[in-house]
Amino acid sequence: MARIVMKFGGTSVADLDRIKNVARHVRREVDAGHEVAVVVSAMSGKTNELVGWVQGTPKVVGANSPFYDAREYDAVVASGEQVTSGLLAIALQAMEINARSWQGWQIPIRTDNAHGAARILEIDGSDIIKRMGEGQVAVIAGFQGLGPDNRIATLGRGGSDTSAVAIAAAVKADRCDIYTDVDGVYTTDPRIVPQARRLKKIAFEEMLEMASLGAKVLQVRSVELAMVHKVRTFVRSSFEDPDAPGMGDFLNPPGTLICDEDEIVEQEVVTGIAYAKDEAQISLRRLADRPGVSAAIFGPLAESHINVDMIVQNISEDGSKTDMTFTVPSGDVDKAIKVLGENKEKIGYDVVQNESGLVKVSVIGIGMRSHAGVAATAFKALADKGINIKAITTSEIKISILIDGPYAELAVRTLHSCYGLDKN
Ligand code: ADP
Ligand code: ASP
Ligand code: MG
Repeated sequence: MARIVMKFGGTSVADLDRIKNVARHVRREVDAGHEVAVVVSAMSGKTNELVGWVQGTPKVVGANSPFYDAREYDAVVASGEQVTSGLLAIALQAMEINARSWQGWQIPIRTDNAHGAARILEIDGSDIIKRMGEGQVAVIAGFQGLGPDNRIATLGRGGSDTSAVAIAAAVKADRCDIYTDVDGVYTTDPRIVPQARRLKKIAFEEMLEMASLGAKVLQVRSVELAMVHKVRTFVRSSFEDPDAPGMGDFLNPPGTLICDEDEIVEQEVVTGIAYAKDEAQISLRRLADRPGVSAAIFGPLAESHINVDMIVQNISEDGSKTDMTFTVPSGDVDKAIKVLGENKEKIGYDVVQNESGLVKVSVIGIGMRSHAGVAATAFKALADKGINIKAITTSEIKISILIDGPYAELAVRTLHSCYGLDKN
């Protein structure tokens, strides 16, 4: 007998039939004698609808951005998971499985005070462990916890993955299964590249890069927690027949295992390609080339909570003037331009230019550490397709390339095949 946490995403609980199907997956594990906690997302599309409602409310006069009260945002957007947790508990009870729903505050899952993007600080797993020991399935609303102000806090979009891994760590689960609408982690988004291959295993570091560079199959924070707490995490499909052979295999369930690098025997040089849309580029022209200029630019941007990503600075020809280019999410451009305008004197630049609708494509692989020429292969492949590169950043295990939006899919497909990732 083992203890398993099962997480079901939005498309897996999209309607009552799908919720019944989820209940069958849960029944399989219960019938096998395991203790089970289930984490659910809201029905697909629900969180977007709730966010839209909040954003449609009138601005509070005189308030700073965000113009709505983030605590009330959380009260609204957390409701989607409350509904699905109750519905799944009912569906399980209808199958004569002992189950009850839990909201974040009932456990409690304690978070910090960053409403809308809160981090889990602590989970008291004792009640759930006790109930599971008595044979009750815990159906937990994902994406939510309780802030230090005693109010509901949500964990950022995609946060139910993080709820699941954090709960798995808190109750010392033997496994955390993330059920979704694809049957594992692929070499790239299988919805864009049909030739993408499913990976049997992927290393934590690679999954972290994939997730933070745009592959939304797992929330970044969930991968961090799985790595730190050594949670055995699988990504698998809820759309397969719950009772098909092999579905209940304890050691080797169908799907992708996120694991330590040394568990992977045949490490490829490149493991996957990720992409992130809606990037914007901001350039400061004829900037004074002197100590302190970067601090003068990026200090105020950071204070305004603008997330700067790629940064490119030229070496100036005459030692006096240079150009600086960096990227921010498209949604932050107006705010960034405003902040730069307010600090124009202090920074000392001539003009600021910007371009939105760009895409960052990234090549990821631990094998890059020990192989030369990986970046050159990407540059040549993109050049052969006439795709212009606007900026490049690299780390030990990834190369990120900024390009024009309309070329996104072509670039992802091109990179995917140039490293031999296409399935035969
Ligand atoms: P859920 O609602 O179950 O949390 P998400 O939509 O958040 O599901 O994540 C699953 C989606 O992630 C898939 O439908 C797929 O399009 C996308 N995805 C992006 N990159 C990858 C990848 N490398 N492997 C698998 N899925 C990916
Ligand atoms: N429902 C939330 C969202 O759509 C959390 C999740 O699905 O993981 O972001
Ligand atoms: Mg998700």
